[in-house]
Amino acid sequence: MRFTHQRGSQDNSAFFAKNAYFGVLLTTYSPLCWKGLHFFAYSKNVSTPTWNRPATPEKSVLSPEDAEQLDIISLGRRIRHLRKAKSMTLDDLSAAVGTAPSQLSLMENGKREPKLSMLKALATIFGVGLDELLGAAPPTRRAALEIELERAQRGPLYQSLDLPKVRISSRLPMDVLESLVGLQGELERRLNEQSATPEEARRANAELRGEMKERNNYFPAIEKEAAGLLKAIGHTSGPLSHHQVADIASHLGFSLHNVSDLPHSTRSVTDLKNMRVYLTQSQRSEHSTRSVLLQAFGHHVLGHAPPTDYADFLRQRVATNYFAASLMMPEKATVDFLQKAKNARELAVEDIRDAFSVSYETAAHRFTNLATEHLGITVHFQKVHESGIIHKAYENDGVNFPMDHTGSIEGQAVCRHWTSREVFDVADQFSAYNQYTDTTAGTFWCTARTERSTAGKFSLSIGVPYVHVKWFRGRDTTERSISTCPDESCCRRPPLDLQKQWAGQAWPSARAQTHLLAAMPQGAFPGVDETEVYSFLAHHAGDK
Ligand SMILES: [Zn+2]
Repeated sequence: MRFTHQRGSQDNSAFFAKNAYFGVLLTTYSPLCWKGLHFFAYSKNVSTPTWNRPATPEKSVLSPEDAEQLDIISLGRRIRHLRKAKSMTLDDLSAAVGTAPSQLSLMENGKREPKLSMLKALATIFGVGLDELLGAAPPTRRAALEIELERAQRGPLYQSLDLPKVRISSRLPMDVLESLVGLQGELERRLNEQSATPEEARRANAELRGEMKERNNYFPAIEKEAAGLLKAIGHTSGPLSHHQVADIASHLGFSLHNVSDLPHSTRSVTDLKNMRVYLTQSQRSEHSTRSVLLQAFGHHVLGHAPPTDYADFLRQRVATNYFAASLMMPEKATVDFLQKAKNARELAVEDIRDAFSVSYETAAHRFTNLATEHLGITVHFQKVHESGIIHKAYENDGVNFPMDHTGSIEGQAVCRHWTSREVFDVADQFSAYNQYTDTTAGTFWCTARTERSTAGKFSLSIGVPYVHVKWFRGRDTTERSISTCPDESCCRRPPLDLQKQWAGQAWPSARAQTHLLAAMPQGAFPGVDETEVYSFLAHHAGDK
């Protein structure tokens, strides 16, 4: 079995494919990853292809000018075919239509567009209708291939490859023609497949969020696995120390190895053959090292097989992130803590963050796992970039997140009046910012903080419907805002006086949200250079 399903070849990487998990470096953003663990890196140069997904509709890589060119090429081939079918030479045809043979040759080679009067004359001479002469279907398989190869060689893709052009003549063997066209077609198909992927990624994300909402973001089976492990190492509450993480590793039979040459596209590599986890000695915080390790164990404990498609990959990532969080913030201890706080009407995300020594994002996300199941509180969570774009979101409280046609929330701009955006304008960045917001879906109370990362500033927020605010610290805030989004007049359209001053006189150049749209899974472990990983494993397998 090879985990790039569309390739038939066998090599020794197949073995590693079954016996290794890769955790991926924190470089590029991907939606729905929890706890600030940006889980996969998409390197533009990674060329491990073949994600097993359904064929996407053929997309033309031709510009309109190219498409017009194509018709001229195709027309030229048809003229040549019809001429030869009539056993006419160029000279014969020249005499018949009164045009120089060189001009006819240019026409047949698709380098000159014939006038309508010329087309009429040719149609009469060949004894065909204009329709047939101009028809899209090439007359023979060979002519079709010649047209296709000509089109390909004139296209930007072929030119970018810097390869010599093959002269298309009747001496070019049919099998060579078939092969060249076939290769070109496959190359285009793969490029199209990649460019179709962000859409697939968004759909998979939306679908997964629906599933999470259905179960109130609570996964009892994972909680049970985590509880069993914690019991085995004798941990009940408080922060999970590095030492205890090492205990979990040895309980599972793993040894930990710090290396300096971890493949750059990964943040951990698990060797299931020798039960080793390789990590890099990084300057990253202890929080993040713990998460990386616990997630690596998660794949093993939860019995993950190499993902079969992108949706499967996302699901596994959600599960391992959940697993790591349920070890760092054990269910029972966290619920006890929250229950006490609720009874005292003092619920606050930063308190559980401090009690378990995790990041605010981990704490906020963990809160969504337990709030509905154990406290009866419906909730929403957001991670929003300072540009206003949603990077992650979850809700089961009916809040009206902005959505695109695929049901995707990530990549959408949040209302300017929501807490998750207003918080960026708050001077005090040390305390939580709390706000009531009247929306078209009701009144919500939200608590938010901002955090800086290499990708910019983000707000992290937890919100609840008005009915639940009585349990939270910060409910006495006087901050209040009104949002009528998705009504455009809420915040998408500029105020009237500004419109009067500037309408028609501004020409902004938009910055593409490349971090979201560039979500292109490649290979079974998106963004991972498999060759590099396997070489790495082979190199280290003999380590003591
Ligand atoms: Zn708005």
